[in-house]
Amino acid sequence: MNVFKFGGASVNSVDRIKNVAGILRNYPNEKLLIVISAMGKTTNALEKVVEAFFAGKKEEALNLFHIVKETHLTTAKYLLVKNYNSTEKQLVDFFTEVEWLLHDKPVREFDYYYDQVVCLGELLSTAIVSAYLNEAGISNTWVDVRDIFRTDDNFRDANINWEETQQNVNNSIIPLYDKTNIVMTQGFIGCTDENESTTLGREGSDYTAAVFANMMDAAAQTIWKDVESVMNADPKQFPNAQPIYELNYDEVIEMAYYGAQVIHPKTIKPLQNKGIPLYVKCFLDPSLKGTYIHDESVKGLPPILVVKDNQVLMHLHSLDYSFVGEKPISRLYQLLAEIKIKPNLLQSGAVSLMLCLDDRSDKIEKLAIAASELFEVQVEKGLTLLTIRHYNQSILAEMTDGKTIVLKQQSPDTVQVLMK
Ligand code: ASP
Ligand code: MG
Repeated sequence: MNVFKFGGASVNSVDRIKNVAGILRNYPNEKLLIVISAMGKTTNALEKVVEAFFAGKKEEALNLFHIVKETHLTTAKYLLVKNYNSTEKQLVDFFTEVEWLLHDKPVREFDYYYDQVVCLGELLSTAIVSAYLNEAGISNTWVDVRDIFRTDDNFRDANINWEETQQNVNNSIIPLYDKTNIVMTQGFIGCTDENESTTLGREGSDYTAAVFANMMDAAAQTIWKDVESVMNADPKQFPNAQPIYELNYDEVIEMAYYGAQVIHPKTIKPLQNKGIPLYVKCFLDPSLKGTYIHDESVKGLPPILVVKDNQVLMHLHSLDYSFVGEKPISRLYQLLAEIKIKPNLLQSGAVSLMLCLDDRSDKIEKLAIAASELFEVQVEKGLTLLTIRHYNQSILAEMTDGKTIVLKQQSPDTVQVLMK
């Protein structure tokens, strides 16, 4: 059994969906569990719908939602003949669920509505792709992952209940393979005991696929992306970025942690725990080598660069020159957890602490106010955090040339500089 994950870019047009069929034809008779994301930028579009709804702009929300509906119906029309009517009915049922909600007034918290609306992207894309594949002779069974992935109600970042989900996988997914080779389902979404939809955090489909791989003891997981492989830097920022053909779990988890947009950071743990290899392959050209990720050590890696813009440096200075000991530090971590923001870098001195954080203005302001009970707080915005794994002095010099460094942290294999 193998798990495949196709991201939003791999299903963002009629041609791309046909391309998925082309890829799957290379795997006849193989048992596959396929996880698909929302088409293209659908998740962003649905976010706009829910923002308008929550701001009390019902007409705007409905208009924005109308566009999402039309794009999906049009794609379905282009792709489907025999299965069009049944799929249209399925799509309309999903639309109706959301429209009911949009006609109400918000009475619960934003994150709850976010999940009820945003989960639709994956439901729509998988319904269309599944119907198309069945029509194209690639027989598959569509599953609503909300019947399988049980989560808590931490909306927008829900936590999976592993026992219940494993039971659902055993009882409701594994037996499907008696009748089908391909099970198709949604990434990124789940459901509470109360039947409320949840989401697992943006870009969470990689993680969904990894949870399935873990629970089904898959032979491997493959993530199909629009890049030839994992690269040593973002090719959009660095045209000279080079492919990396082999990596281990540790390296990938570090890269993801430092902000590389390669693979969702939660993906590695479920795979590592069962020793399941991960392949990153290019859906535009499946003959390319891609990247093979496993548990063994990999030698001779090139410098790996991760650049994060929009960073904030928060400088905390103890109010009365008392040392920055366990108490203020644990209080600070408590605040970070309450506000749900995580420092990208932290450096402590005798009477001061420096934190580098993503510039989420609302959260930064909350944190600054809360931290001012313990510290004198200064905030500097508009910074860039550069991380280089496996650095050497020449690349570090090249990358920081002409910049002002405001904070630097260095270990034998990783250097991080916050600069402007
Ligand atoms: N559709 C979701 C997102 O755009 C999940 C994913 O793509 O993995 O964040
Ligand atoms: Mg995506």
